[in-house]
Amino acid sequence: METSGTTNTETHFTDIPDLAEQLKEYRLDRFGGATKPAGIRVSELGWPCTRYLVHSVLDWDNRAPPSDWAKMRMQEGADREKIVMRDLNAIGANVWGQQDTIEWRALNIVGHPDAKWYYEATRDPSSKFGPLEFKYTNERYFRKLNDPADFLNGDIFLRKWYSQLQIYTLLLNCEIGFFLLEECPGGVPKFIICPLDYEFAERELQRAEEAQMYISEALAKPNRKPEYPDKINQHAICNRCPFAHVCMPDLRVDSALNIIDDQMLIELLERRQELELAASEHRAVCKKLNMMLPDSVGQYMAGDFVIKQTKVDRKGYSVAPSSYIMRKFTCLKKRREDEKPS
Ligand code: SF4
Repeated sequence: METSGTTNTETHFTDIPDLAEQLKEYRLDRFGGATKPAGIRVSELGWPCTRYLVHSVLDWDNRAPPSDWAKMRMQEGADREKIVMRDLNAIGANVWGQQDTIEWRALNIVGHPDAKWYYEATRDPSSKFGPLEFKYTNERYFRKLNDPADFLNGDIFLRKWYSQLQIYTLLLNCEIGFFLLEECPGGVPKFIICPLDYEFAERELQRAEEAQMYISEALAKPNRKPEYPDKINQHAICNRCPFAHVCMPDLRVDSALNIIDDQMLIELLERRQELELAASEHRAVCKKLNMMLPDSVGQYMAGDFVIKQTKVDRKGYSVAPSSYIMRKFTCLKKRREDEKPS
């Protein structure tokens, strides 16, 4: 009989496969890899750089891949979408045409709206409908998004969502489109009506038209080096671009900068930046409290707070030598703001 729990674990449990690892592998397999686009994807049109649109077709296989975490998150969103469509059917909503292909051949645009919602009583060809886009979104976006303008004036990813819905609305000849958001975690739904913003959608189509001129020229002359529209050279956008290493190879070589195209990771970095000030104030307040509170064991009351103080013996231990990754975060936006002449 084993006497030590540690020995027990080491002796008997090492051959047991890690279920989490197996699950992760399965989900990453389900997500699959990048596929060649049939044209300029409607979901890409909102990226405010025409050169990017050309890269997204000509250099699709060179796109910086999302992290494993982002892939699993996107797969979770796709799974959640199926549940939402099932529930919409259960409540009798006239939701049809899920992921149907729509295209505009002249501009080489292709897209797959999540669904069409016939908001009048029946799915009659004459009844009114609009494209419905489902977004399974984090708490921060969920709180922020209440109105079409919140997408348009939000960050680059929200602008992409807005553009996607606007283009679907225009291509389907509808007056309105719909966002159905769900908060992750929790699954609380939110519904936002988004009228067609004709001027915006037209401008997006003009960019697609320009991008398509470059794409068709490159495809017609496969032996020549393709030409691309001008770079926009906007740090805030280029820093997030999954084609930055193709578009600006010098930037990558000179600074050994590897671009991570991971929306969730960027959101976490932004949140970390927001919390940094509060965290340092929290540390300063704790330090001051430690100096002000009595240095002895017991219970104390101050205002609405009970403070229980106990003695803890610190165990001594030595740290074995090892290596770890030290991370330093620099917010370029903040640095640019700091550097602005006053
Ligand atoms: S790196 Fe900048 S200029 Fe180049 S494609 Fe991306 S967004 Fe456009």
